[in-house]
Amino acid sequence: MTVDLTALRRNFERIAALANPASVAAVVKADAYGLGAIQVAGSLLDAGCRHFFVAQAEEAIALRPHLPNDAQLFVLNGLLPGAEPACASAHIIPVINSLCQLQRWRARARVEGRRLPAVLQFDTGMSRLGFAPAERAVVRMEIAQSPELEILYVMSHLASADEPTKGQNAAQLAEMQMVTKEFAPVPFCFANSAGLLMGKDYHGALVRPGIALYGGAPQACVANPMEPVVSLSIAVAQTRTVPCGTLVGYSGTHVTTGSTRFATLCAGYADGLPRSLSGRGAVYYRGQRLPILGRVSMDSMTVDISGLPDDAPGLGSLVEVIGPHQTIEALAADAGTIAYEILTGLGCRFRREYR
Ligand SMILES: *Cc1c(COP(=O)(O)O)cnc(C)c1O
Repeated sequence: MTVDLTALRRNFERIAALANPASVAAVVKADAYGLGAIQVAGSLLDAGCRHFFVAQAEEAIALRPHLPNDAQLFVLNGLLPGAEPACASAHIIPVINSLCQLQRWRARARVEGRRLPAVLQFDTGMSRLGFAPAERAVVRMEIAQSPELEILYVMSHLASADEPTKGQNAAQLAEMQMVTKEFAPVPFCFANSAGLLMGKDYHGALVRPGIALYGGAPQACVANPMEPVVSLSIAVAQTRTVPCGTLVGYSGTHVTTGSTRFATLCAGYADGLPRSLSGRGAVYYRGQRLPILGRVSMDSMTVDISGLPDDAPGLGSLVEVIGPHQTIEALAADAGTIAYEILTGLGCRFRREYR
């Protein structure tokens, strides 16, 4: 697995140009979508990024020592009871989603005897995290009585930004604009990768892309404006030629219809190549498509190499899974999933090389 950090930085710069004058935060949850949070954050720091989001407190505590003091690190899911002391002392900033989280963080500030920063998240229509519309009056009152808390942003998350024509986007934007009025002059943080492409109204003061930084397509309906960052190749463990009528793999789900040459590859579903690719999808060798035959196993899978010359590929040859011939989106489509799930699932057995 190769991670092109130069391409990553160019993607950051593209997004910064698009978002200007808003700042760009990097979402580095789930180990930066499987690319390696420490390496990704280090590289984006060089590009000038000073805002980072993870999902869980544990991720933040692991990443914080790798960030300079002037970088802000936010926890999207907020804190579970008991995580406040460690997060306060590590200068980690929770996204507060409920009154209980708000009260606990304020109590922590009192114990510490200093102001603690926080982000307030509002549910504008996704029904996942954040204060409900009916709670906003109480939240305003609580904040007015909480000089211990410094509210950096009000935030929300778009549910349908990858489908820009859906009415849900405009409805969420209208709700976010109401929140912004009610909590003025606190700036807002709203757009993910797809939201970035929806225009300035959605940008606020800070945008929060994840997948676009990593080269994923923010919206399926427009050509991907981002540069690929990840490529993945896997090695050939064995090749063989079998006669017509041979059963291939678990349950013999593939039966050859003629003399077939195939290669067994050194990766399977334990490495994040979904079992749903069984009998579907392909890998590439020197630009040639090699269909996956039969079931994907835990540690291996077989592909048809009948169309290749006899001497290639051999033991240890690398075939392309993600690269110039196959985008993450194309692989995900064959697996019946989305690029996010493929990227975040790529296993720890792949050696990550950083360029
Ligand atoms: C994961 C996540 C993001 C990043 O989303 P992308 O679609 O990868 O840009 C932004 N905000 C929140 C709240 C998230 O959970």
